[in-house]
Amino acid sequence: MLGVQNFGNGILASLAWLSYQPHCMPNAVFDFDPDSFSVLYTATRKIKSGDQIFLGYIPTAVALAQRRQAMARYKFICQCPACANATTESDKLRRTFQLDLNDIARSVSTVSGRTPETRDLMNRTLRLKAAMEKEGLESEP
Ligand SMILES: [Zn+2]
Repeated sequence: MLGVQNFGNGILASLAWLSYQPHCMPNAVFDFDPDSFSVLYTATRKIKSGDQIFLGYIPTAVALAQRRQAMARYKFICQCPACANATTESDKLRRTFQLDLNDIARSVSTVSGRTPETRDLMNRTLRLKAAMEKEGLESEP
């Protein structure tokens, strides 16, 4: 590749062709840098050498039907694991995880010490974290 520079988790690619694919479990985001007239790709999770870069072209925190509808304008039918294995539960998780995160954040200020409420909140947090990682949502804001 020509003109690729590393910036921590990011790669500044100028005149480079990177192999990437739209995906509902993105592992990178991109942004345009007008100063260098380049695109900056930033990993949102570990990407091993040789792994493909997946970018979210559409909002990924929505149910399968909405993702398919949004992808239709690109004439693309996504076959990523999140789409191929979508269930009612995974659709619900994509629609509600941000609300759940906000609720957990609010609840943190109401518990303290080694109480059953603290343990329940920790368990709820860990279950949500595991579900989000399984669904590829760990890098969502
Ligand atoms: Zn997909």
